[in-house]
Formats: sequence, structure tokens, C-alpha cells
Amino acid sequence: MPGLLDFMLRPRSIAVIGASARPNALGGRVTARLLQTGYKGQVYLVNPKPDPILGLPTYPSVSAVPGPVDMALVIVPRDAVIPTAQECCRAGVRGLVVITAGFREVDEEGRQLEEELVALCRAQGVRMIGPNCMGVVNTNPALSMDATFSPTPALAGPIGFISQSGALGVAVLNICHERNIGFSQFVSMGNKADIGENELLEAWEEDPEVPVITLYLESFKDPARFLDIARRVSRRKPVVVVKAGRTAAGARAASSHTGALAGADSGAEALLKQAGVVRVDGVEEMLDDAMVFSRCPLPGGPRVAVLTNAGGPGILAADALDMKGLVIATLLDETQRKLRAILPREAAVGNPVDMIASAGPEQYGACLDLLLADPNVDAVVPVVVSPPAWDAVDVLASLKEVTGRHSKPVLTVFMVGNDLKRLAQIPDPPPVFRLPEAAAKALADVLAYAKWRETPEGPVLSSCGDNREIAAFLQPTLDQGGGYLPPEATFQVLAAAGLPIAPWRTASGAALVSRAASEIGFPVVLKAVAPALVHKSDVGGVALNLKSHEELSQALSKMEQALGRAGWAPGSWSYLIQAFRPGGREVIVGATRDPGYGPLVMFGLGGKYVEVFRDVQFGITPLGRTEAERMVQSIRGLPLLTGTRGEEGVALDPAISALERIARLCQDHPEIKELDVNPLLLYPGPGEAAVVDARIRVEL
Ligand code: ADP
Ligand code: MG
Repeated sequence: MPGLLDFMLRPRSIAVIGASARPNALGGRVTARLLQTGYKGQVYLVNPKPDPILGLPTYPSVSAVPGPVDMALVIVPRDAVIPTAQECCRAGVRGLVVITAGFREVDEEGRQLEEELVALCRAQGVRMIGPNCMGVVNTNPALSMDATFSPTPALAGPIGFISQSGALGVAVLNICHERNIGFSQFVSMGNKADIGENELLEAWEEDPEVPVITLYLESFKDPARFLDIARRVSRRKPVVVVKAGRTAAGARAASSHTGALAGADSGAEALLKQAGVVRVDGVEEMLDDAMVFSRCPLPGGPRVAVLTNAGGPGILAADALDMKGLVIATLLDETQRKLRAILPREAAVGNPVDMIASAGPEQYGACLDLLLADPNVDAVVPVVVSPPAWDAVDVLASLKEVTGRHSKPVLTVFMVGNDLKRLAQIPDPPPVFRLPEAAAKALADVLAYAKWRETPEGPVLSSCGDNREIAAFLQPTLDQGGGYLPPEATFQVLAAAGLPIAPWRTASGAALVSRAASEIGFPVVLKAVAPALVHKSDVGGVALNLKSHEELSQALSKMEQALGRAGWAPGSWSYLIQAFRPGGREVIVGATRDPGYGPLVMFGLGGKYVEVFRDVQFGITPLGRTEAERMVQSIRGLPLLTGTRGEEGVALDPAISALERIARLCQDHPEIKELDVNPLLLYPGPGEAAVVDARIRVEL
């Protein structure tokens, strides 16, 4: 089946426009690379001078070439790019790879030229990679296309690699040579003026030659589309991403808890998580993960066995695995007996299995076989410290052979110094790491992905309430130019969105306050409310557990004095009377609007210390049920909610549901710029949860 961008990723013919015989010119390097790496399609070299280049004839223009052209590699000076593109369109070229730089990345004139170029391509139905890119590679031997100026040709292998930075692309190809990791396809996106990560992910979604996708990204071209596409692609194959370049946080409002806690990277972090993408911190880790994904089956669980010929490194490996959340497997007695039978007396047959220094290829193979056959083991990490009497290459060959008989991941660690390079002699080996920590990190990433893929995609709430009713509560504040909603409207909006609100009244004056308390029923809470009063308890504006009219009136006069001392003019505030709901666990549920990612919703442990512990999780919209659950389950302080040290746990469902509803509310009402529910009180019974404090800021 033909792929979406085959005319660029598998072109049958390429025109090199700006081909050159000078080996140091960019055009010369691209030409030489394409020809010397044995491209199997038709090459047409375009150059105004008639002299042959590297033995091939040249053509004065792309219109003059004798056959159809799938893809044109454009390496002409910047000011010649538009006329060249026009000529390509006339000649029926289907895709342009514009290597020429000097566009958006340099100046305003460049930006305008780039826009002109995109408009031209769109109008003519021609697709473009670049400008300012390093080119494309497809190592399939049937095509053997290296259309780049990278100094190192890519090794063939199963990994697809998309890079927003050309220089980084070169660096990665170099590292891969050292590490014996190969690529099936590589695309340097450059300025992503037309084709970007979204189009390439879609092109590789169905491509069996790209079972693993790696991506170096500095910015998202269209975050909402990325979420859609990456989530779909991740269900079929792993997408491993290094996301650099943190967005400017300055543009985001930050007068709420949620706004203050949202870091520059919160949106990207949430987006990648929700897309099921494996996010790593750097290129080495990206390659580690890709290597494991491409050479191992997904692990069925977290239980790992360590097999070693030296005690220390074995313990180090076990520690590293444990720190990454993996489990050191408990081996079956039968497995231990069988190990004992083939190992010397000094060996340890628990886990880690220490075969001692005498172990050679045969013992590594036999023990690995026993460990992989143990139903208590989901994965094995063999650690090989230079065996005194054996060749590490033979050990790897033996491990490979045994691994092939099972369907569990085996991640090998070879602490063998310079011998590491020689291991490349073994074709298609199980993944090889230099240090146990790296193997542990990769296994943890792969396991997390396997779990994500097993979790069904939860539904996204299609509505949280009557949007017309909600809009009517927002309107008066918008009419006044925006700002914080008064407490009445705040609670009305949240109630209309389906959140549980503790019974409340607003009132001013002692008599009305008393009446409100009677209506609600004692015990009550009294709070002072005013638009500029943000932290009520800081100024003595919150009185809890008032059990009678008498206690209420005492609290009222105390509050008046306290606010007076804090500099509030008499009559500049009114009162909120609420049902007192003791004993709840406090959580915060909020939202802030990010200029790039839209509403960022937040969940965390609430109360006064939210900014101290920063134990919060972010999500973006659309926020599904599964993601809301994941956010709640991912906070460090989860045991404080689920119960610890004999304390009863609280129902989490109201928090999950509040997140879903607030996400929907903010998606449906873009005028809501900030929203904090702090706290939402949680109790053992799901029906008891209550919002007791909230702020909503709107703006057109
Ligand atoms: P602020 O955050 O402006 O200081 P809150 O309304 O959040 O004011 O009240 C402060 C704290 O008082 C809450 O975090 C909660 O611990 C407690 N509280 C407030 N209202 C109630 C209530 N109705 N029932 C029980 N506790 C409450
Ligand atoms: Mg509060």
C-alpha cells in the first residue's frame, strides 16, 4: 500500500537542483552523498553549467530533465528558491526538500519569503520539507536513499527519526554509528513550513518499515493535532520524544494557585503524557528506548531477574531497577534448584543470580534460559563484567541465541571497556547497555508505555451542564470588563457544571447573616468576601464550626475588628455563610489558560501548603476520564488520600469527576482564564465531597 508521503520518503526519482562538482559546496556534498550511497532511483542533476558532475550529465533546469520527478532537492541560493519552486511546480515535481537556509530563522525578509514559498506549494498541491533542513534518508536497500549533507551516513535499522534540528540530526547519526543502532528513515524537518511532525507521524503510522518512531522537537506545530495524531499512532507503535526549548511562561496569567504552579513546561509535559508518547530527557535515552522497543517484545510486567558474573555490578543493577520502580523477581524454587545444579558452589542462585567470574558463554546461556522460563520473571538483565577467560562477543552470541527462544525482553549490560565496539560483530543482538542504570531506565520507560497501551482510552465528557445557563452567570462580570466573579456567580457556575458545593448563602449585616445561618443549619462557617480579598484566612476572614447564633455573632464582631485592623474600610466586604463540613481531606482542582496549549487543568493536594509542596499534576483538554484518573493517582501524596497509618481513605471519584468537569467547562467557555477550587473537601463517602472555596476569573 502506498504511503502518504512516498514521493518524498520513497521517491522513484530525484532532481538535485543546485548540484555541484565542488566537494566542499553544500550542493556538492549532497550530490556526492546521494550518488555514493547507491540510490536506486533515477537521479537528475540540475546545474546551469553543462559539464558533467561525477560522471552524470547535467540539465539546465528541472523542466529540461527527460523523465518525471518525484522529489526535488533544492540547494540553490535563497533568492533563487522561489523561482526554482515555481519551475518545479510547472515541471510536475511532487515534493520539495528545501535544504537552502536563510528564511524564517534569520530575518523578516526570510520570513516573508518562507510564507510565499508555502503559499506557492499549497496553491500547486506540492508538499515541502524544510526550508533550512538537512534532508531525508531511507536506508531500505531497495531504495538506499541518503539525500543529506550529513558527514556520517546512517546505518540501516528499524528506527524512524524526525529531527527539528539538522545539527542534532547529524550528532544522532554519529552516536548511532558508535552504538550500532540503525535507522530505516530519517527526516530533518528544518523550519517545518509545510511538513512537520504531525504529517510525518501520520506517514509512518501505517509504515511497517518504521516500527519505532523517535522525535527531537523544539516546538509543536499544532499541539491539538499532535495530541490527536500521536495518541492514535502511539496505540500502534512507540513514539519516543526529546522535547527541548521550553515555552515562554510570561504570557500565562498567574494570579491563581494554578497559574502560579504551572511551569513553562507543564503544557508540553501534559500533552506528551496524554498522547502516550515516551518522553525522555536527552538523545542517549531516546536511543536507549528506541533500541529496546525495536529489539524486544513489550514486558508483561515489572518483575526482573539480574544475571551476573560479578557481585557488585549485580547489586548495582538490582538497585537501579528498584529505583526505577521495577521489581526484583522472586525466583521459583524449581528455578533456583536448576541453577544450583549447573553453577559452582560459590554462586548465588537468588536474585541477582551471581554465577561468579568463571561464567562463560555456556553458563550465561543456560542460566538465561532458566530465568526466562520462570513464570515469575517478566524480563532479564544479564550483566557482563569482562569475563577473564572468555570473549565478551561469544557471551553476547550465546545470550542472543537463548533470547530468541523466548518472548520476554532481555536487556544486556556489558561493562567491558573497549571490547564494547567489538560486540557490533553480532548482528541483531538484544539491546546492549554500558551501565545498569541506563538499562533500568529504558526498561522502566518501555514498561510504562506497555501499561499505557493496555489502558483503554476513557471517554471524554461531552458536556458538563447547561452552557447557556453558565454563560449567563459569567456575563455580568464580562460586561464590566472582566475580572473575578462574585462568590454567588462562582458557586452558581460550579454548581451548574455539576460540582458538589457546600450549602451557602451570602449576606451583609448581622440580621441577614443570622437568618442565612438558620436556613443552612448550624454548625456554619462565616467568611468575609470582597473582590480583592484573596486569602481570607490570612486576615481573620474565616471562622469555622460556629454552633449557635451566639457563636456566630461573636465571630462576626471579631471578624469586623480583624478586617478593620487589616486596613479594610467598614462596609467594603460582605459575608458568606456556609455549612461546616469537618474532617475532609483538602485537594485543589484548578485551571489556567496557556497561550500554546489552551486550558491547563491541575490537580493536587490542596490547602495552605499547595505552593510549598508543589505536589500537583497537569492535564490539557480534551481531558478523558482515564487521564483525569491518572492525574489524581500520580500525585506523590496519594497515600494521604487513600489512607495511611490506620487513617481511613477518602473517595477519589469526586476529584476525578471535578477535573473532568472543570476541563469541559474551560473548553466550552474560553472566557474563563483562571479557576481555582481550593479546597475541594473529600470524605470516605463519595456523596459527601464539597467545594468550600473557589475563584473564577473571566476576560473576553
Ligand atoms: P481562604 O483560602 O481564602 O483562606 P477558605 O474558604 O479556603 O479561605 O478557608 C480556609 C480553610 O478553612 C479551608 O482550606 C478549609 O480548611 C477550611 N474551611 C473553609 N470552609 C470550610 C467548610 N465549609 N467546612 C470545613 N472547613 C472549611
Ligand atoms: Mg481557599
